[in-house]
Amino acid sequence: MMQTPNLSISERRADILKRIGKAAQKSERVLETITLTAVSKVQSDDRVDEMLKTGQKIFGENRVQEAQERWTQRKEIHSDLELRLIGPLQTNKVEAAVQLFDVIETLDRPKLAEHLARAIKKNGKTPEIFVQVNTGEEEQKAGVKPSELDTFLKLATENFGLKISGLMCIPPADEPAGPHFALLRKLAAKNSIEKLSMGMSEDFETAIAFGATHVRVGSALFGDRENK
Ligand SMILES: *Cc1c(COP(=O)(O)O)cnc(C)c1O
Repeated sequence: MMQTPNLSISERRADILKRIGKAAQKSERVLETITLTAVSKVQSDDRVDEMLKTGQKIFGENRVQEAQERWTQRKEIHSDLELRLIGPLQTNKVEAAVQLFDVIETLDRPKLAEHLARAIKKNGKTPEIFVQVNTGEEEQKAGVKPSELDTFLKLATENFGLKISGLMCIPPADEPAGPHFALLRKLAAKNSIEKLSMGMSEDFETAIAFGATHVRVGSALFGDRENK
């Protein structure tokens, strides 16, 4: 991807929002149905604070502990933030995740559904939940296999009483993303699930064309993660 190192965080965000607007227009979608999640994992605190100054309220993190360190205090100062967990969740971190996050996008196995249900009851706090789907059926990647999704959703909702509001996917890095986005949309429609978290820096415009309601953009917003 072309890097534009001289742009400020605020300029980068304006640029991404403009591209989201254009992509929405091109696919005749209502702009308000598309939400930008700023993926702040591994970015410096300076960059995150600069992003907060632009008015960005929705942030994605992929690790619970890193997110706790970064956001616990900032959440008290900025009460209207929305924090989204977009990385794998271990069962021993579920309680902390339920306390911190407004949305958990990575429910992907029965054991986790069980632990989430328990933590929600115990904490009296109910984050919105998305199920991660392994659309490429990659060995090393988390997510429910497409062929097992119907059964998994039934288990999560009927056995554990969870409400599933969205699906999320990360397409294989070495394949065109479009067919994966199309598959996720189809699976969501089949199960009457409305929200679709898909699309990152390289492919969020494609994801919007395929119906993404939440795009997760990191490096194109903040700059390279290695290069803080
Ligand atoms: C890191 C990450 C992103 C953002 O990736 P970029 O390519 O930097 O935009 C999005 N989604 C998930 C699940 C991630 O881990």
